[in-house]
Amino acid sequence: MALKTTKSEEIFAAAQKLMPGGVSSPVRAFKSVGGQPIVFDKVEGAYIWDVDGNKYIDYVGTWGPAICGHAHPKVIAALQEVLVKGTSFGAPSLQENILAEMVIEAVPSIEMVRFVNSGTEACMSILRLMRAFTKRDKVIKFEGCYHGHGDMFLVKAGSGVATLGLPDSPGVPKSTTSNTLTAPYNDLEAVKALFEENPDQIAGVILEPVVGNSGFIPPDTGFLEGLRILTQENDALLVFDEVMTGFRIAYGGAQAKFGVTPDLTTLGKVIGGGLPVGAYGGRKDIMALVAPAGPMYQAGTLSGNPLAMTAGIKTLELLQKPGTYEKLAGITQKLINGLLAIAKEGGHKVYGGNISAMFGMFFMGEQVRNYDDAKKSDKAKFARFHRGMLEQGIYLAPSQFEAGFTSLAHTEEDIEGTLAAAKEVLSSL
Ligand SMILES: *Cc1c(COP(=O)(O)O)cnc(C)c1O
Repeated sequence: MALKTTKSEEIFAAAQKLMPGGVSSPVRAFKSVGGQPIVFDKVEGAYIWDVDGNKYIDYVGTWGPAICGHAHPKVIAALQEVLVKGTSFGAPSLQENILAEMVIEAVPSIEMVRFVNSGTEACMSILRLMRAFTKRDKVIKFEGCYHGHGDMFLVKAGSGVATLGLPDSPGVPKSTTSNTLTAPYNDLEAVKALFEENPDQIAGVILEPVVGNSGFIPPDTGFLEGLRILTQENDALLVFDEVMTGFRIAYGGAQAKFGVTPDLTTLGKVIGGGLPVGAYGGRKDIMALVAPAGPMYQAGTLSGNPLAMTAGIKTLELLQKPGTYEKLAGITQKLINGLLAIAKEGGHKVYGGNISAMFGMFFMGEQVRNYDDAKKSDKAKFARFHRGMLEQGIYLAPSQFEAGFTSLAHTEEDIEGTLAAAKEVLSSL
């Protein structure tokens, strides 16, 4: 089935002359799967419509926020109500208190919270806070974990550069990343070695408690617990970047799901309900350092604006309904188990799984425990799978290295339709 994409192509051709690569964020381009990005016109529930009138079942969910389904009527109605009172105050609002209380109540590590406008901002701020609190400069991150595009986090994976921290992008000075140490995900021994090689110099460890940014990779049993112990033994902070996992794999995030409480946490995506929101928070004694309570400076003109806070509040209210996460898990399991079974029947080597509403499938026969493993997957095959699914009306993230997302709006029928499409595509690959 050939997809009609005339208008998408026209608009994207114009966009490429106006904006680098034609997009406002590189993940939206179809660089690794080929073809051109689809230009959207409308989103609603589990579906998206493009400018040519094609309808797709969506498993990107605007990269995570749309966990209640796109444009949920309750979120839209609440936004319309506050919209007429203005879009930004640049001054305190009641909505900030409400969302802050909800976040503090939900996320075990968070006793106080600061709102920002993106996950990137949250991660940049948390790094400054880690250093301010410990008076140490070095930080450990894991290969294949994404913490936004802050200079200090753009460090290439690989043990040879672990101590040097070679920048991943031009424009990032070596001096900026020289304090960023990297270890393979799920490798406690590597973390231990870094602490031994850098005594009293490491401010803390930051990670995605469940990886979504090199495909879906869950932590090994004992990995998060081991990091908790290692950081405590070395007077260093443990930071969970829950920008993706927060309110997605459980209402209280990965820390609630796995029962491991970090010192600090970053949030984003779901807590903004589709508007630009990020947040960081944690222990009161650490958060007390943040200006104006303390000396660590961090600010934002639009931070905590009433529209964004309202979308967050309404989204979390919807998620609080009993049975939400059971429902998400059920739908997602049906999807991923179906996909894996169909792929295997078709003779394809695949590996995948899910936790609640976050899932992933690699074209690769062995277990994927870290980024190096993920890189061995068959990316060319994924590209053909992606294209085939797109033509069948299924919108997947245009990269093997992205997790997939389901929502409360996805129905059993949507899943069955997706599996039927996958059967057709996988049998022809
Ligand atoms: C998306 C993401 C970020 C960056 O958030 P933005 O809002 O895109 O800046 C940071 N960390 C993780 C784990 C993410 O998934």
